[in-house]
Amino acid sequence: MLSEFSLIEKYFSKKDQGDGIVLGVGDDCALLSKDSEYELAVTTDTQNEGIHFFKGTDPYLLGYKSLLVNVSDLAAMGAKPYALTLSLSLPEAQDSFLEPFSRGLMELASALHLALIGGNTTKGPLSITISAYGLVKKGQAMLRSGARVGDEIYVTGSLGLPGLLVDLGYETAELAAMLHKAGCRDSLRTLFEKLYPKSMLIANRCAFATSLSKYCRCAIDISDGLVGDLGHILSASGVGAEIWVENLPRPQEFLELGLEESYQERLCLFGGGDYELLFCVPKEHRAQVKQLSFEHNVALSLVGAIKNDVFTIIKCGKVVEYSDKAFEHF
Ligand code: ADP
Ligand code: MG
Repeated sequence: MLSEFSLIEKYFSKKDQGDGIVLGVGDDCALLSKDSEYELAVTTDTQNEGIHFFKGTDPYLLGYKSLLVNVSDLAAMGAKPYALTLSLSLPEAQDSFLEPFSRGLMELASALHLALIGGNTTKGPLSITISAYGLVKKGQAMLRSGARVGDEIYVTGSLGLPGLLVDLGYETAELAAMLHKAGCRDSLRTLFEKLYPKSMLIANRCAFATSLSKYCRCAIDISDGLVGDLGHILSASGVGAEIWVENLPRPQEFLELGLEESYQERLCLFGGGDYELLFCVPKEHRAQVKQLSFEHNVALSLVGAIKNDVFTIIKCGKVVEYSDKAFEHF
C-alpha cells in the first residue's frame, strides 16, 4: 500500500506548472504570483470526525481549530491571512451545532481580518474543509527547501499535549498503567475532559511568523509530529539535522501528571497535532529572533541544528533511537 506522501508524489505532483505559479505541490502553501509586490499563498485542510477530532467535540472549538490549522500553514510561509472558503459536510442541519461552530470560526476570522468569500454545504458525515489565502512579499516566503547547514532549529510554544490527548481519548492501557504508577487518581476520561479543550485551542502564530520572515528562509508547521515534519524540510533542502532531546519544550501538564521521561520524549517528537512552528535560521540572527520572541510573547526553544547529511536525535551527548514512526494517514 502507498503511504500518504508517496501517493501524492505518484499521482498528484505534476511538475509542469502554468504561468504565475511560483510554487506548486510540496510546501505548506502553494504560491501564486499576485502583482509586482506580493504573492498569494494558498492552502487547504480537512478535519474529519473520528480522525482529526473525537465525536462530540465542542462545536465552538471545532470551528476555531478547523480555521486555525489552515492559518497555521499560512504562518509557516510567513503569509498574512487574507481570505477563506468553507466547505461543510453535515449529517444534520442543527442550530445547536451550527451556532457555536460558526461563532468559533467567525470570531477567529474577524480577529485575523480574514474574509469568508465562499464555500459549499452538503449532507454527509461531519467533515470540514477550509481553504485559506494569504499575502506574502515577493521572494520572502519561508520554504521547506530553505534550510542551510549551520542553521539553528527553533520551535514555538510547547509540543506533545495533543498527542497525549489522543492516548487519553482512546484510553490506552499503557497510559492508564503509567498514570496509576505516578499516583494519579483521576480516570483517563476525567483527564481527557479537562485537557481536551486546551489541546484544541492551538496558538495563532501568524503575526510572529510574518515578522520572522524578514530574517528566516525556512519554516514548517508541526502537524504530523516534529520528526516527520522536520523530515520534510530535510528532504526538500537536501540536508541533515541534529535534535537535542533535553531542549524539547514540554507542556506543564507532563510534569504535573508525572509522565515517564521516555513517553514525554515520544509525545514531543512524534505526537502530532501541535500546529506550532518549526523554523531554521542562521546563527547570526539569534538576537533578532530573541527580540521577536519577546515582542510577540511567543516562547521559543532552540532544539537542534541543521547538519550535513544524516538525521540524529541526541540525548545527553549520545545518539538515541526510537521505534516510533512519523504520523501518516496511510
Ligand atoms: P500540510 O500538512 O502542510 O497541510 P500536507 O502534508 O497535507 O501539508 O501535504 C503536503 C503537500 O502535498 C502540500 O503541498 C499539499 O498541498 C500537497 N497535497 C496533499 N494532498 C494533495 C492532493 N490530493 N493533490 C495535490 N496536492 C496535494
Ligand atoms: Mg503544514
